[in-house]
Amino acid sequence: MKKAAHAPKEGQEEGVCILCGGEKHGYPAAEDLPISLARKAREFFRMPPSHTVACERCHGSCGAKREMFEKRLRTYWICALIFVLIVFAGGMAYQKLDLWLAVPALLGSAVILLLPYGSYFPRFPSPK
Ligand SMILES: [Zn+2]
Repeated sequence: MKKAAHAPKEGQEEGVCILCGGEKHGYPAAEDLPISLARKAREFFRMPPSHTVACERCHGSCGAKREMFEKRLRTYWICALIFVLIVFAGGMAYQKLDLWLAVPALLGSAVILLLPYGSYFPRFPSPK
């Protein structure tokens, strides 16, 4: 293990920076569902745990990136909602409105909701 060039500040952890990819001290990502899933997957495959951090230099640009991801997430939620409405409207148009329509509606909207996670960006709480 390499020694870090300088001691970490309060609230910082050693990890891999999400933006520059450097192994350094930085602020850890907030542990939400995708982050804890990734940690569980690493545990499962017996990979060494790696913390996602934002280093001092990159932390400033993380807020805007997170905002972009959240905006994309909201857009896809609206798309999923519209998709469900279209499925049920289609069922109504053909007078075949039954519960089985919920299956393609749910599957389709699940796929739509997963799409923005292809460009997932974690939240980094601002340092105190
Ligand atoms: Zn960095």
